[in-house]
Amino acid sequence: MKLKTKINLYTIVMFILLLVLINSAIYVTFSRMMYDHELDRSAAEALKAVKGMNKANAAIDIGDLLRAYMPVNGMVKIVDTNGKSDNSITDPNQQYLIDLPSHFYKGEIREIMEYKDLPHTFISIPVITTGGEIANLQVMESLEGTAHILRILRIVLIAITLFATIPILFSSQILSNFISKPILSMIQTMVEIRKSGKYKRISLPKQSKDELFQMGETFNAMIDQLEANYESQEQFVMNASHELKTPLTIIESYASLLKRRGLQQPELFHESVEAIHSEAVRMRELTQQLLWLARHKDQWNIDMQAVDLEELISGVIQSFSAAFHRKIELKVTESVMAHADKQKLKQLIYILMENACKYSDGPIAVHIDQDGEKALLEIIDRGIGISSEELTKVFDRFYRVDKARSRKTGGFGLGLSLAKEMADAMNAQLRLQSEEGKGTTAQIFLYLADSY
Ligand code: ADP
Repeated sequence: MKLKTKINLYTIVMFILLLVLINSAIYVTFSRMMYDHELDRSAAEALKAVKGMNKANAAIDIGDLLRAYMPVNGMVKIVDTNGKSDNSITDPNQQYLIDLPSHFYKGEIREIMEYKDLPHTFISIPVITTGGEIANLQVMESLEGTAHILRILRIVLIAITLFATIPILFSSQILSNFISKPILSMIQTMVEIRKSGKYKRISLPKQSKDELFQMGETFNAMIDQLEANYESQEQFVMNASHELKTPLTIIESYASLLKRRGLQQPELFHESVEAIHSEAVRMRELTQQLLWLARHKDQWNIDMQAVDLEELISGVIQSFSAAFHRKIELKVTESVMAHADKQKLKQLIYILMENACKYSDGPIAVHIDQDGEKALLEIIDRGIGISSEELTKVFDRFYRVDKARSRKTGGFGLGLSLAKEMADAMNAQLRLQSEEGKGTTAQIFLYLADSY
């Protein structure tokens, strides 16, 4: 069942049910009040007749006595202990009451009874007749007038129920449209997205604070995010294939050169093998970095522990000085134990050290200190530096300040983005301070091991 139909059905059924309940309660209360009132009035008349009988002496004719107390629309009669009635006086309009069989009752009776499809009051009071016998004085009155009023009330209430249904129908229609319209528009947009493969947004006409507006707004925000993710994925794949294209072209051209003339020219053979080898190494590095970036953070298996920064950095400095033949100075202002994943931190320092080596020629300084509640590790070079406009972009994937220069130095523009993700995974902060022509300081802020 459609949402619109459900809303319509539920509201209409609920409202009609409520109206029927209220109107029924009004009718039942009113009719009970009317009948009770009639019953009291009839009983008062019967009592008056009983009192009259008690006061009268034996010489008075019982028929005359009863005539004096005959109700307007009814009958009064004396019923003996055998259930027989010899004395009864009936209004000419209610002659049918004479046919009603008589009964003797020991106690007092007051009730509304149906006779000939009409309600009647029935009062029976035990009396001692003027002749000294036990009998019942019974009074019956037709309540045709009351029944007529109640019939009119019934018609009025039914009419009210039916008339009230019309605005309910309209309002439930408006309500269901109000709720289902944005949902339908959302479904329509989703279907269009699925069919066309293009990201679309729902038009949100009015600024409002209701949940439907919020749902539309959230949907649009989600589409924005999906589109941005899709675009960045697309860009990533494009960049990755572009980066792989150059080494592959070099390998392919050297391989075909080898095929054609490799055996005749040994110097060409050596040059080609060298070039193929270095490009293969570059490709391996690139694919390794790509794999790291593609891997979800959950699969990084971060193992946080207390890491002695001085011990870790000393090892890294040794390897780098040997590999790059560079002078690297270590300054420890305060020896600190940081809370980090040892392997990831090492990898992160490798990226920053490699950059410092690649983009500077002079000595490199490494500084360990404590900055407030955090451990601070700085890698300082006096190299070419980065301009302030570029500084915000260097953490983007595949971003290189000078593509031609980077190609020569061997970078793909993935190092810093990988470093940033590693720092995030360890709850650390990575900052770059740089001035073009003067040098760069890479800072890593880590939580102290004691704070855990
Ligand atoms: P790459 O592999 O190209 O070095 P990175 O992501 O590590 O990629 O760095 C992005 C860019 O930032 C580099 O191309 C380089 O131009 C610049 N850069 C990074 N570190 C330094 C540094 N220490 N000095 C100068 N430039 C740097």
